[in-house]
Amino acid sequence: MNGLLSLVQTYAADASHGWDARTLIYRLALLAASFLFLLGLRGLSNPETARRGMTQAAVGMLLGVLGTLVQRDIVHYHWIIGGLVLGTIIGAPMGLWIPMTKMPERIALSHAFGGLAVALVGVAEYLHRGAQLSSFSIGAVTFEVLMGSITFTGSLMAFGKLQGFLPGKPTTFPGQNALNFIFLSGCLAGLVGLIVKPELAPLFYGLVAAGTLLGILLVLPIGGADMPVVICLLNSYAGLAAAASGFALDNNVLIICGALDGGSGFILAMIMSKAMNRSFSNVLFGAFGSDATALAAGPDKGGNVREGTIEDAAELLKIASSVIIVPGYGMAVGQAQHATRDLANALAANGTRVKYAIHPVAGRMPGHMNVLLAEANVSYDQLFELEAINDEFPQTDVSIVVGANDVVNPAAKTAPGSPIFGMPILNVDQSKAVIVLKRSMGKGFAGIENELFVLPQTMMVFGDAKVTLGRITQTMKGGGH
Ligand code: NDP
Repeated sequence: MNGLLSLVQTYAADASHGWDARTLIYRLALLAASFLFLLGLRGLSNPETARRGMTQAAVGMLLGVLGTLVQRDIVHYHWIIGGLVLGTIIGAPMGLWIPMTKMPERIALSHAFGGLAVALVGVAEYLHRGAQLSSFSIGAVTFEVLMGSITFTGSLMAFGKLQGFLPGKPTTFPGQNALNFIFLSGCLAGLVGLIVKPELAPLFYGLVAAGTLLGILLVLPIGGADMPVVICLLNSYAGLAAAASGFALDNNVLIICGALDGGSGFILAMIMSKAMNRSFSNVLFGAFGSDATALAAGPDKGGNVREGTIEDAAELLKIASSVIIVPGYGMAVGQAQHATRDLANALAANGTRVKYAIHPVAGRMPGHMNVLLAEANVSYDQLFELEAINDEFPQTDVSIVVGANDVVNPAAKTAPGSPIFGMPILNVDQSKAVIVLKRSMGKGFAGIENELFVLPQTMMVFGDAKVTLGRITQTMKGGGH
């Protein structure tokens, strides 16, 4: 409301300076876009309203683009149309064909493009106005270009590590943190230098190169395991760069949108570090995932695995009065969300109370399980966060683990040397009986053994989760398999 008021006031004040209809449309579109971004972010805070929030944010973005296109500063449109076509050619297949399991890689690539775009806008602004930029504007442009280039190469590094093009293990060398610190300090000194002397073009372009190199150096010592946290952090850098570009271009929507992006990306990175029990500084400087850390997990424990058949699982479930389903990354890999829902429905029809336990870092991205289960039309009120459900496991007849591993690994509570030690886990090991659905005794993301699989109350049913779930459901309904 305040924004609208100030817009009207500005309009009234500037009417004499010849604001035309185009300028008014431009300003109104950007104001509406900013408002929709805020609404969208608010909607995303709850699964029930998340879809609406996405639509609101997308409409906001469309208004922002259309509003910008009517701006009178635009001389001709052919470069813009070219960019639109190129962006669509790259973006549409990425959105349509990249599978859910590859989401972190896709997001890393999108951030790389975002960082590059922001850095190029800054370079264009410097080329355009150069030494005429005010101290404030040159500071904003240089900051924008620095953050944009760090985001560009840093995100490409994250993509390479996740995709396996680059070694996932941290690459470290003596004095690395000191070197990074000196490099970063040099960049900041360069920024101050440009504020004092904006005409120093070699310094400006030197900083573009330095930012590009810094992005590589900063991500080099971080292991593939921590890449999603790094991606969230780079997301926040891209947001800050966009906000700086808003100051340089006098564009309010960029300032608002960039600040939202910067703030939310940073908060998400913190939440993820906490859920993985990793301190923020440890993620950035700790070289998690190196050989030394992995070895600290200790030797594999071994033990007797009790393997069950489809019939064994179906019999156990038929007599259960309470069941908790624990989905994990394997449910995403096997696209087993619909089969999981079908089993839950069959159980409910049999009079069993069914709940889903959702671990904050189950899968490979925040909210991964929620998204998949929502796609399968599982009602939100059946989904319970870790804190809300963890005390219920001891009173639960059967827990069904669908392709989860690390998030149910008791080593997080019992093995101090383990890389997941201290991570809050779902207390599946405390339920009366456990059915684990996975293909083999293969390890999870952390690459360690799981004691849950050899506990006396655990029954392993090996096979692809989707196939196994389908067969169990059929057998429960009396149809055999
Ligand atoms: P895990 O990666 O620990 O384990 C997944 C298990 O799924 C594997 O052991 C695998 O065993 C099984 N699996 C794979 N494909 C199938 C299939 N088709 N059918 C049945 N089972 C299958 O997953 P969790 O969700 O338990 O844990 C997530 C891990 O990822 C945590 O360590 C977390 O820290 C990490 N992480 C999470 C992020 C997030 O944002 N959510 C981001 C970054 C990391 P098998 O091969 O034997 O089938």
